Amino acid sequence: MEELSHWIDGKKVAGTSGRFADVYNPATGAVQARLPLASTAELNEAVNRAVIAQRAWGATNPQRRARVLAEFVRLINRDMDKLAEVLSREHGKTMPDARGDIQRGLEVIEFCTGAPHLMKGEFTDSAGTGIDVYSMRQPLGVVAGITPFNFPAMIPLWKIGPALACGNAFILKPSERDPSVPVMLAELLQEAGLPDGVLQVVHGDKESVDAILDNPDIAAIGFVGSTPIAEYIYGRGCANGKRVQAFGGAKNHMVVLPDADMDQAADALVGAGYGAAGERCMAISVAVPVGEGTADRLVEKLIPRINALRVGPYTEGDNVDYGPLVTAEAKARVLGLIEEGVKAGAELVVDGREHAIKGDEAGFYVGPHLFDRVTPEMSIYREEIFGPVLCQVRVPNYAAAVELIKNNPYGNGVAIFTRDGDAARDFASRIDVGMVGINVPIPVPLAYYTFGGWKKSGFGDLNQHGPDAFRFYTRTKTVTARWPSGLKEGGEFHFKQVD
Ligand code: NAD
Repeated sequence: MEELSHWIDGKKVAGTSGRFADVYNPATGAVQARLPLASTAELNEAVNRAVIAQRAWGATNPQRRARVLAEFVRLINRDMDKLAEVLSREHGKTMPDARGDIQRGLEVIEFCTGAPHLMKGEFTDSAGTGIDVYSMRQPLGVVAGITPFNFPAMIPLWKIGPALACGNAFILKPSERDPSVPVMLAELLQEAGLPDGVLQVVHGDKESVDAILDNPDIAAIGFVGSTPIAEYIYGRGCANGKRVQAFGGAKNHMVVLPDADMDQAADALVGAGYGAAGERCMAISVAVPVGEGTADRLVEKLIPRINALRVGPYTEGDNVDYGPLVTAEAKARVLGLIEEGVKAGAELVVDGREHAIKGDEAGFYVGPHLFDRVTPEMSIYREEIFGPVLCQVRVPNYAAAVELIKNNPYGNGVAIFTRDGDAARDFASRIDVGMVGINVPIPVPLAYYTFGGWKKSGFGDLNQHGPDAFRFYTRTKTVTARWPSGLKEGGEFHFKQVD
């Protein structure tokens, strides 16, 4: 059995806590490696080393830091297939999807190569007589990231890139479900020229997360994961005086107005609902057709598309649409929620339990499910299912669609499908959700915009990547300078005559 390692001070380091977690291959259900789970002492030691390494890195000029990131981009592209294979083997997503996971992270690193520009402060010449005011952005010191299983490359890259570009050292605590790609990325950063100790990858569970929350040398924490843990991280991290951004779970709706192109809407829903087996924080899990006629037409279009989905292992390459769930527990939880949906009286229009699976029977597969006539009290509507289950909630009119979404506690992503520009514009401006798609089902903003949800989907006031990330990972110092006016008149340009 392979035993995985932490990445400390530029090398692989075995765990010493004696505690381990199993890492599965979800496509076969087999345990493929043992992961060491760090103790508080191991985490604190990694931070101590990072404190020392950060001093020189923070003093390196931003252009040199950016060059390391530019080389990192080249190396990720070089190793793209290798990274994608390891990612798929631990996560279960298809190879094309794994490449997308890496690519969307890579784009943020590309953005971060603009660090010299993004780190620039402001300057006001002659704010008063002889007075100049300027501001500078300085690194925070050592910062940490705690990341979820569902994007094991993208989300660590969203955090590592801006944090390092700003001159911080970074402690990454990746998900214990798929921990190998983050270590491979750390190795590539070292090859790209990152000094040892500036990026430490420490594996672990609650013990190491709590050690991060309580370590006084960690100035800021970026978290992504489920809402209960996001709330916990935000509360405890802030109480300890840290800067915290914590992104949580989601329940993303897609409103379909009667004038929408129904084929386009159905295609979009199938991709956004079942892609990555529904294990995306931006997955559409609720379809909201407006009017009974729209709902009937949509279901009719969805059924054949859902039945045609090919479910199987990543080893099938482009021949599968989605793979298994990440663990047996995740599968059991999703199947439990499906039972609850049936018991609560939702109409199970497509029963994925009968869907053909191409893969190993012991893999953690769940076929695609479609529920119609779901109502807001049902647990399949209230809970984030995080599986290949799409729920349709029928509403009588546009106002009821907006009301439904406003009453939902989550606010990560939302979409509207319509040909009516006026309705789309009204929707984008009124809806209380952080990321809105107009005829775009998964509106993940590009690297130079920022990513973040509202309500129970995000805690803290700055988003991930884009310009917000450079604010989050720096603190601003403002200097007011007065130069005594007339000093220059006092300058002497000739030898004084000595009497
Ligand atoms: P999770 O909350 O179980 O785990 C996230 C991280 O927290 C992991 O590193 C894990 O080790 C750690 N953790 C878990 N339990 C903990 C505890 N009790 N105390 C301290 N730390 C703990 O989430 P997950 O299952 O890995 O990821 C799926 C969730 O992440 C979904 O809810 C999804 O919507 C969300 N997500 C949100 C975004 C976003 O940007 N809003 C992006 C991706 C995923």
